[in-house]
Amino acid sequence: MNKRDVIVIGAGAAGLFCAAQAGQRGRNVEVLDHAKKVGRKILMSGGGRCNFTNMYTGPENFLSANPHYCKSALNQYTQWDFIGLVNDYNIAYHEKTLGQLFCDDSASQIVDLLLNECRKANATVTTRCEILQIEKHEEGFYLNTSLGEYQCESLVIATGGLSMPKLGATPFGYKVAEQFGLNVLPTRAGLVPFTLPPELKEPLAAISGISQPVRTACNNTDFLEDLLITHRGLSGPAVLQISSYWEGGEVSIDLSPQEDIHERLNTAKENQPNITLKTFLGTCFAKRLAETLIDVMAMPNVPLKQLNQKQLTDIARQLHHWQVKPSGTEGYRTAEVTLGGVNTDGLSSKTMEAKQVPGLFFIGEVVDVTGWLGGYNFQWAWSSGWVAGQHA
Ligand code: FAD
Repeated sequence: MNKRDVIVIGAGAAGLFCAAQAGQRGRNVEVLDHAKKVGRKILMSGGGRCNFTNMYTGPENFLSANPHYCKSALNQYTQWDFIGLVNDYNIAYHEKTLGQLFCDDSASQIVDLLLNECRKANATVTTRCEILQIEKHEEGFYLNTSLGEYQCESLVIATGGLSMPKLGATPFGYKVAEQFGLNVLPTRAGLVPFTLPPELKEPLAAISGISQPVRTACNNTDFLEDLLITHRGLSGPAVLQISSYWEGGEVSIDLSPQEDIHERLNTAKENQPNITLKTFLGTCFAKRLAETLIDVMAMPNVPLKQLNQKQLTDIARQLHHWQVKPSGTEGYRTAEVTLGGVNTDGLSSKTMEAKQVPGLFFIGEVVDVTGWLGGYNFQWAWSSGWVAGQHA
């Protein structure tokens, strides 16, 4: 029987960071993970450069049934604390856009940082370990695993969500929550591309690769970022962001958020009455996008002088309020995160401990706290991991 003060299940961002914190308090800690390699999502993240936090992180950048839950952890361990740690390791980084901080060199530097912090804290990290059963007794938790039996006082669940099963994602954390009587909210894929009905998918697939700054909106939320047309549907940051708010129905896309198309159309009609709508739209968008928009929006491709005011208004409205009804999303296969999860009602926001099960903690993505695209999800992993690490 291996006896530990703390066992953390899941050697991802939240689990490794939590283990290092608990170890630094003098707790005897072991992290168990079923995968061959630790931190696989970190290694894949940010195109291999890991968008490890966001300078402007605040509770408003997270989705949760209880939007207040994340506040305490984000205040206890802030983005500036993590940036300080990255500085201590001399990891070079840059702001890409909108406060998003990326490593200059490689995401593996963040994994190395975490493993080094664990080493300094004498926290053991064990991979290829299947957890077969968990029981709670008076003295603590008993774990039956493929590597033998473990006993611990505190058990931290950091097994993440369902996104990207090929990177080791499993519903394990939700099952543990349910085993101990915690409520698990329905899950769905977030930060995920949209798929489209055939009548839109086919014409758009022909121009895949084109990107356009847009404003996407649904459910009283909007994002001003880039849209990317792919051979499967719509992607790019503007789409990934709004996908987390999408619950079926239409998404409104403003294809020209910075410039009033109606005004431009009126000026063009006055100065160049003989140019066609296609030629005009080719001055606003990439030419192939302009052609495709005329087709999919069934616009009259005639010289501007032939368009009356109502037609000009309609064309501008279609371009500023393109109503797209996705047929779905690409699902967990490509989603960056999982929305929903362990209901925060059953957890203490100050410690991450289950209110009814002393010694049991839930951190990171397994909890019903999901960040926007832009480094917020890792910041939640660091903040929630740090907090649990002070109490486990
Ligand atoms: P995870 O990192 O998913 O770690 C969970 C760990 O638990 C894994 O090691 C897994 O093997 C282990 N595990 C799972 N089930 C079991 C089990 N049954 N038994 C034992 N172990 C188990 N967020 C950002 O903020 N910035 C980014 O740049 C960014 N890029 C991303 C890119 C991709 C491709 C993806 C998929 C996600 C990205 N994210 C990004 C989101 C971010 O990676 C996650 O929110 C974050 O990793 C969650 O941390 P976690 O520790 O809770 O879970």
